[in-house]
Amino acid sequence: MERIVIAFGGNALLRKGDSGDFETQSARAYEAFSSLGSALAEYEVVISHGNGPQVGNILLQNEFSRNVTQPMPLYSCGAMSQGLIGLALSFAYERAKYEFGLSRDISVLMTRTLVDKNDPSFTNPSKPIGPFYTEEEAAKNMKEKKWSMKEDSGRGWRRLVPSPDPIEILERKQILSLLSNGFLPVCSGGGGIPVVKSNGFYEGVDAVIDKDLASSVLASSINARRLVILTDVENAFLAYGKPEQEAIGIVNLDKITAYSESGVFAKGSMGPKITAAIRFIRSGGKEAIITSLDNARAALAGKAGTIIRP
Ligand code: ADP
Ligand code: MG
Repeated sequence: MERIVIAFGGNALLRKGDSGDFETQSARAYEAFSSLGSALAEYEVVISHGNGPQVGNILLQNEFSRNVTQPMPLYSCGAMSQGLIGLALSFAYERAKYEFGLSRDISVLMTRTLVDKNDPSFTNPSKPIGPFYTEEEAAKNMKEKKWSMKEDSGRGWRRLVPSPDPIEILERKQILSLLSNGFLPVCSGGGGIPVVKSNGFYEGVDAVIDKDLASSVLASSINARRLVILTDVENAFLAYGKPEQEAIGIVNLDKITAYSESGVFAKGSMGPKITAAIRFIRSGGKEAIITSLDNARAALAGKAGTIIRP
C-alpha cells in the first residue's frame, strides 16, 4: 500500500470567520476527513496539521488568566494544541470511519521536532505570535521576559519568536511502529514541539516550526511516496493575485526550483509549501501535491492541484 503524508492547513480546522469553539473545529475536521472519504482506505496515511489559530487562542488564555494560574511556556502550548486538535481529529475520523466503512483506528502522537540551537533564526526572531500589547506592556515583557517584540502596523506590539528549520522528527520510530500495526497516526502537529539537544538531552525552546517544512521532514524520514499539502487554494500560482495569474499544474523539480529561486512565492504562506515540496522530492520523494481539501482526491489521481515530480 502506498504511504502518503497528508498535511492539513490551518483552514482544515478553522476558517476565517469561524468562532473557534471546539464543536466548530470538530465539524471542520469531519469535513476534512469526509472530503478524503474512501481515499483514506486506499493509502497508508499519516496526518499532520497546522496549529496557528489554536495556539494563538491558548496564548490568549494564558495571558488573560495570568493572575490566577501560571502561564505555560510557548513550546508546551504547542503540546496543548496537538492534544486539542488531535481530539477534534479523533472524533471526526471515527465518524468518517463509521460512515465510509474504514478499518484503521486513529492514534494521536505528541511529537517533538529537533532543531539546531545554532539555527540563525534564534538570533533573529521574526515570527509574530500571540496577542497584541500596548507599548508599556511590551517594554515590560522585553525587560522582564527578554521577549523580542515589534510594533505591528499600528495594531499594537507583538511577540516575535524564532522559526528554526526542522531537522528530525523525534518520534519517527513510534510513528513507524503505529503504521506497521495498522494505525493511522496523527503527528507533527503545528510543526512539532521544538526541542534542542544539549549534553545528550532534549529541552523545549520557545520557537515555532513551519508545519509544511516539518511535514516534509516527516514524509522523507518515514519513506513516504507522496507528500500532500492541503490548504485553501487549488494550486500554487504564478503572479498570484494579479490579472495574469497562472495556476501551476504538473511541474518537475528543476522548473519549480527555478520559480522558487526567482522569489515568486510569498514568504509566510505559499513559500514554505514549495520549499517543503522541493526538499521532499530532493530527498527521494516521488510526488508532492499542493491543493485544496476539496480537490485532494482529484489531485491524488493526477487530475488537479500543483503536482511536483522529480
Ligand atoms: P495554511 O494554513 O494552509 O498553511 P497559508 O495561509 O499559510 O495556509 O497558505 C495558503 C495561502 O497562501 C493561500 O490562502 C494564498 O492566499 C497564499 N498564497 C500566497 N502566494 C501564493 C501563490 N503564489 N499561489 C497560491 N497561493 C498563494
Ligand atoms: Mg501556513
